Formats: sequence, C-alpha cells, structure tokens
Amino acid sequence: MTDLLIDVSATRQHTLKTRIDCVGIGLHSGAKAAMSLLPAEPDSGIVFRRTDLGLDIPARHDNVTDTRLCTQLSHPGCPDVHVRTVEHVMAALAGTGIDNAIVTIDGPELPILDGSAAPIVFLVDCAGRLSQAAPRRIIEVLKTVRVEHDGAIAELRPGGATLDLALSIDFPAGAIGRQALSLSLTEQGFRATLASARTFTWVQEIETMQQAGLARGGSLKNAIVVDGDRVLNPEGLRAPNEFVRHKLLDAVGDLALAGARIHGRFVAHRTGHALNNRLLRALLADATAWRMVSLEPAGWSQGQYGVAAKAA
Ligand SMILES: [Zn+2]
Repeated sequence: MTDLLIDVSATRQHTLKTRIDCVGIGLHSGAKAAMSLLPAEPDSGIVFRRTDLGLDIPARHDNVTDTRLCTQLSHPGCPDVHVRTVEHVMAALAGTGIDNAIVTIDGPELPILDGSAAPIVFLVDCAGRLSQAAPRRIIEVLKTVRVEHDGAIAELRPGGATLDLALSIDFPAGAIGRQALSLSLTEQGFRATLASARTFTWVQEIETMQQAGLARGGSLKNAIVVDGDRVLNPEGLRAPNEFVRHKLLDAVGDLALAGARIHGRFVAHRTGHALNNRLLRALLADATAWRMVSLEPAGWSQGQYGVAAKAA
C-alpha cells in the first residue's frame, strides 16, 4: 500500500502512468457510458473529452453550468455540449494526487459506478502514477471568503498546510440527522475516510425523479436510499456517518475545479454543489483573497512572479 501513496502535498505534478478504461451506467440517463482515464502533459490539469463529439471540456469552476443534482460542466464555446456527474472523478483524482489527466467519455454523463469514488481510485491504482518535472501550483487562501444560502454556509479561510475540511449536515430524515466531520486532505485520509462513501437519496425523491425521466440508472447498487429512519439497502451503511463523508467527498471534487490545489480551511454547514461552486467563484473573483504559489522541488528556487525556476 505505501508504494501506492503519494503525499498529496508532493511538490511535483503527477499524471497516470498509462490509460485505463471502464464501462458503467449513467445515473440519470440509465445508458451505458464508456469512460477512460489517460495521462496528460504537465500544467494541462484535468480535461473531460467527449469522444462522440471530439470536444474537450476543461475541469474548471467557470465551466460549471448546472448544480441541481450533480455538478455539470459545459464546453466554453458550445453551451449545449456538457458532461454531468464530474464530482466523484474530480474527488478521486484530487485525493490520489493526480494533477493532469484526460477523462474521455462517449456521451454526456459519467458512469455512477457504485455511487462513491472508490472504483475510480481503483482505476488510478491500476494505471499507476507518474511524477512529472513541473512544480505543483497551489492556490493559497489569504483572506476569508464566505457564501450562504437559505441557512447553508460555506467558507474558505487562510491557514493549513493542505486543505483542511470541516463540514456539518442536518437532515430531517432520522436515518441521517446531524453529522459533522473534520479532515485534512491527505491521501491516506481521503482513501480511508472519504473514497468509499456513497451518494444518497430518499425513496420519495427517486419516484419523483423517475417520473421526470431522471435517475433511470439509479438503484440500491449505486446509492444509499433512505426512507425516514430506515436505510433500505440490505447491506446497510459502509460507515455510521457515511452521509457526511459523502458530502465531504463531493466538496473535495467541487473544490478541485479551482484548477490547482487549495491550501486553506474549508468550513461549511449544509453545503452542496451549488454553494461549493459559488464559493470557488467568490474566492477566485477577489484577487486579494488568494495567490498562486509554485512549490519548489529540491534544487529549485522560487523565481520572480511565483514561478519556480531551477537554480543555475
Ligand atoms: Zn456525490
């Protein structure tokens, strides 16, 4: 296991060693979706490629166009071209220290797999990881930015040697109730606490969504289904606080759309995809709230304008 681990605070960028493919079902379309993860050049970030259309959609916060049921990205020049449910892939890549990758998909929706990020972490482990020469860039939070909506709040504060996360949730359903979790985003912490937490929904919501033609691929195999005080999945929960773990997994995926790792403290209550995206937009729109820092591998020195340069 230890040879698989890269410190997510490593100073150099990483990509995949080789290509890896999988096939699954889209949660909303119910259609088969073929996804591949491919190595990518340094400084290229994560890019989603619609192989059916030959178009690339960079995984950036300003390409987010819908956050109602999942996080959807659209092509900056063709708003009708989108890719849905990117958050678990983004979380898995961020949590396993992958900076650069191309994620190909043959339609508009990524496969939901088991509703968690664990199958994607497995794919990354199968492909292996490659250290790249380029230094990693970090978005350092310099001042507190806060967004809120209808009793939900999300903040990014300065501090922390990585991304420190603290989240609480409060749902009327007795099976969920109030849950809170704090975690520093290390690879071990991500793998042990967040990766296998599944998405969740309510039995009543499934009926409503399926009547609206959504969640056609939804089943007890890819989501926790709650009915009041009860969890309907026969196998039960993977952890007593699996719900807040999954909300934190979603937040890691949504915050990875900043385009670089964030160093700061994320503090939130009842947040979701919409508020997470608003928080990122608010941070990055305020030039006094953050700065980009290049990490220096040994033998490199910090150059002008925050760009790392190799010592002569
Ligand atoms: Zn999710």
